[in-house]
Amino acid sequence: MGLRFALVAALEEELRTLLAALQSPVTEHHAGRAFHRGRLDGHEVVLVRSGIGKVAAATTALLLADRYGVDALVFTGVAGALQPAASIGDVVVARELLQHDMDASPLFPRHEVPLTGRSHFPTDADLSDALARAARDALEAERIGLDSSFAALGIDRPRVHEGLVVSGDRFVATSLERTALRTELPDALAVEMEGAAVAQVCLDCDLPFAVLRTLSDCADDSAHVDFGRFVAEVAGPLGAAIVRTWLRRVEPA
Ligand code: SAH
Repeated sequence: MGLRFALVAALEEELRTLLAALQSPVTEHHAGRAFHRGRLDGHEVVLVRSGIGKVAAATTALLLADRYGVDALVFTGVAGALQPAASIGDVVVARELLQHDMDASPLFPRHEVPLTGRSHFPTDADLSDALARAARDALEAERIGLDSSFAALGIDRPRVHEGLVVSGDRFVATSLERTALRTELPDALAVEMEGAAVAQVCLDCDLPFAVLRTLSDCADDSAHVDFGRFVAEVAGPLGAAIVRTWLRRVEPA
């Protein structure tokens, strides 16, 4: 039997393109979520929308590890950019994740997940390498298809970044909050609401995982692109193209 991959996103629009391509789909419901099993690009996959936030993401990741026995998990979606060099439309592949709202100080150091001894949770190196390669190649290839959407949103030439992604149960949308995050965590590339929770569960379950995010906003109060439109027209199709570029290259086990 080949490997089984879990493909997870927080929002419906983020998963839509992958779901449309799923072959022989079978849908099962657990814990209020729809798990779509099927085949994609020659592999057995499970597609699921986790919902937004750390608890929703953790619940979903545990079900995928425990009930579905997946061999690897890839989380895709959108995130807010935290570095001046990272622009809307760029892609971020997480190398490590941290919960920016974790604070059990003074009992434990700021950001440390109590009793784990860590604040930074690494992603799987090989999986992240492969996804970053797929992202670079897909951005070249897919630009043709997404050019008009990119242009309409004022996106020039998307790039791929790799590094720290931070998560918390808060949509970061003020300059004040963005500055506070940047001061506390100067290395953070992007902020979202699920990745670090998935990381903690996957570490507990010894499940290789990766997190891939398209930057949808600058996590500040600047007038940004229409979020819903961006996710549906750019981030969803782009994330799906990257994941499928990666899947096609994975040797059937
Ligand atoms: N307006 C959306 C809500 C999206 S919540 C709706 O009505 O559906 C934000 C989602 O996008 C989360 O899943 C989170 O992971 C990601 N995200 C994008 N930009 C973010 C930001 N600036 N801060 C936190 N999460 C962000």
